[in-house]
Amino acid sequence: MFNLILFGPPGSGKGTQSDRLVAKYGLIHLSTGHLLREEIAQKTPLGLEAKGYIDKGQLVPDAIVIGMVDSYFDKHKDSKGFLFDGFPRTVAQASALDKLMERKKTNIASVLALEVSEDELVKRLLNRGKTSGRSDDTNEGVIRQRFAVYDNETSPVADHYKKKGKFQAVRGEGTVDEIFNSICEAIEEKMD
Ligand code: AMP
Repeated sequence: MFNLILFGPPGSGKGTQSDRLVAKYGLIHLSTGHLLREEIAQKTPLGLEAKGYIDKGQLVPDAIVIGMVDSYFDKHKDSKGFLFDGFPRTVAQASALDKLMERKKTNIASVLALEVSEDELVKRLLNRGKTSGRSDDTNEGVIRQRFAVYDNETSPVADHYKKKGKFQAVRGEGTVDEIFNSICEAIEEKMD
């Protein structure tokens, strides 16, 4: 298996780039945000619980997210590999992912981190909010809250992978094609 994590703040382009990356490398896209929105659309108990957190710009509790990742992984366990998008978002989630990788006798090849300035992120998210139908993208207060959560809870995940020598920063500004090419270069270094 060849497993990657696409890391970065809200609006850094993880979703856009993931769609292209999974097509190019034949990976399974595991986006926890997407899985949660599906649960919300189906009005499941998990979805109803998650919605309260998402609408406030807070993280959904680790136990819910980790359980969801475990079962999605099992459903696709014969795949070539996974592209994790929006997960892990806390150090506890990163530790749970380490354990999952160990149990499945595989590993994370690399963490690719998209770097984008905060002004550009706000601009992109408000723009996306006009068409995405995502309640958490239309309110600047909720967007700022998501950045605060990212700084406090998610950025320590970078150190978790830096210590393992798996962290690669990629410039997340420029055209979608330029960013995609930079990510592919970083991936191919790891494949050699
Ligand atoms: P995203 O689509 O990745 O931007 O996620 C949208 C929202 O879903 C986030 O702001 C969180 O409220 C929730 N969410 C997604 N992934 C996670 C995760 N790994 N841990 C906790 N909450 C998450």
